[in-house]
Amino acid sequence: MTTPTAHPTSNTVVIVGAGPTGLWAAAELALAGVHAVILEKRVERSPHARALGMMPRTLEILALRDAVEPFLAAGRPVPAWHFGLLEQSVRFDTLTTQFPYMLLIPQTTTEALLEQRARGLGVDIRTGAEVTGLDQTDSTVTVTYLQAGRTHHLDAALAVGSDGGRSAVRELAGIPFEGEASSAWGFVGDVHLDAPPAPGTRIVRPDGALIVAPLPDGRHRLTGWDPEHQSADEELDLETLRGFVQRMTGTDLGLRDPSWLSRFGDANRLAATFRRGRVLLAGDAAHIHWPTGGLGLNAGIQDAMGLGWRAAAFVRGSQPENVLDDYAVERRAFGEALRTSTLTQSALIRAADPSALAIRATFNRLLATPEGNASIGNWLAGLDDGEVQGNY
Ligand SMILES: Cc1cc2nc3c(=O)[nH]c(=O)nc-3n(C[C@H](O)[C@H](O)[C@H](O)COP(=O)(O)OP(=O)(O)OC[C@H]3O[C@@H](n4cnc5c(N)ncnc54)[C@H](O)[C@@H]3O)c2cc1C
Repeated sequence: MTTPTAHPTSNTVVIVGAGPTGLWAAAELALAGVHAVILEKRVERSPHARALGMMPRTLEILALRDAVEPFLAAGRPVPAWHFGLLEQSVRFDTLTTQFPYMLLIPQTTTEALLEQRARGLGVDIRTGAEVTGLDQTDSTVTVTYLQAGRTHHLDAALAVGSDGGRSAVRELAGIPFEGEASSAWGFVGDVHLDAPPAPGTRIVRPDGALIVAPLPDGRHRLTGWDPEHQSADEELDLETLRGFVQRMTGTDLGLRDPSWLSRFGDANRLAATFRRGRVLLAGDAAHIHWPTGGLGLNAGIQDAMGLGWRAAAFVRGSQPENVLDDYAVERRAFGEALRTSTLTQSALIRAADPSALAIRATFNRLLATPEGNASIGNWLAGLDDGEVQGNY
């Protein structure tokens, strides 16, 4: 791979992947006058909402662009959330922010609103376009993709890999994805509950973890960890979920009619670098973790915000190439903090032996203090990276 030393002649940036990260990065680039092209391999969006929450810092970012209102109108604020399924909630309403809450909003709605904004700013979104190749020279990066059975090549000043945890861009750029493979599997079930438990119910015991959250369509999301079902290739079915819920709560909560049953691993990985020459990584392509605490989508949009203006400044010639390194250094440091936070949470969730349970009790005790709540709360909310915020 070569490193660019001169400003590019092309005004195009190719963004691979139209998830939340790619959509916000593309919108930021277009806002700054750059020709932004998104290549997305899917033709239709997934009907399943993975993320359900937007954190205070993400809402602040949207507000910086006068873009937050449609999200606020579509979501519901919740003043408290959990860290590692601790019994003591993290309260956002005591934090110093314009948005002292987490916004409950399904990822499907978030993506639809982000796409609307990107299209409105003139982003060229090409669907059914799967990226298969990447080539860099001193002056350009060429992205190869397949669309409708034909191979296409697109020259650009920069390529952004926002193509998720199995990122082809990361692979093609030869960037190692450092960390650990999955050794534990959690589950998610979106179901109807005839007898739902109290709002905010969460149970953590040595024999499993369960959190129940209401969904906008009247269903509930059951998420958790069942130590009795930990083989990698097992699929979740309704009866297994029913048995687990019965064991944890003493009743099956009247669960029926699932719209989504799935499992996820606890792999925790961070890209060795977020930049190689003219290729930048962001979002899940750069960091993956057990989806706990509601952080991945938020981290992706925050990456995209840090990337957008810098990539635009480089492409338009107003900043030297080390502005791209600033992005890579700043957001990789954030990725390291994300790794610490999510590893801590998955250890807290799976606490089973006396010493691990004692650590949970200690965290609960700390979180009950204003200082402890502010420390963990600002971390979860994305508000403790003061240097990053100063750069927008
Ligand atoms: C069960 C579950 C619950 C979660 N809950 C939360 C939560 O509450 N809060 C939170 O913040 N996060 C949560 N997350 C994480 C969140 O969903 C992800 O972090 C987020 O989707 C990452 O966004 P992204 O845009 O980086 O990647 P993705 O959303 O994965 O988007 C990547 C896109 O790239 C496309 N693509 C892939 N390869 C190619 C290719 N070769 N060519 C072209 N396109 C390609 C894909 O089709 C996809 O559209 C959860 C995840 C799971 C699994």
